[in-house]
Amino acid sequence: MSMFERAKRARNLKEGYPEDKGLRNGHCNRSGCLAPLTGRPHYWMRDHETFTDAKLYYCEPCADQFTRWDKHIGAPIRCTLETDDA
Ligand SMILES: [Zn+2]
Repeated sequence: MSMFERAKRARNLKEGYPEDKGLRNGHCNRSGCLAPLTGRPHYWMRDHETFTDAKLYYCEPCADQFTRWDKHIGAPIRCTLETDDA
């Protein structure tokens, strides 16, 4: 387990979320969503909060919302679909 994953799991538990929130095959990282990600498309965003460059994972509907918003305000698209070789 990476240093990032260890810290993220500890923070999730402390904040009362599923331990694997935002992790691969865990739960969507958006606090208002928390959809299970196992067996579903994974979209990732760089974690700019911890400066580890780690990937935070989101479900497809949340990623679509982020992307719509990014396009609306003309900002760079933040979410990328995870591919098997990533
Ligand atoms: Zn979601």
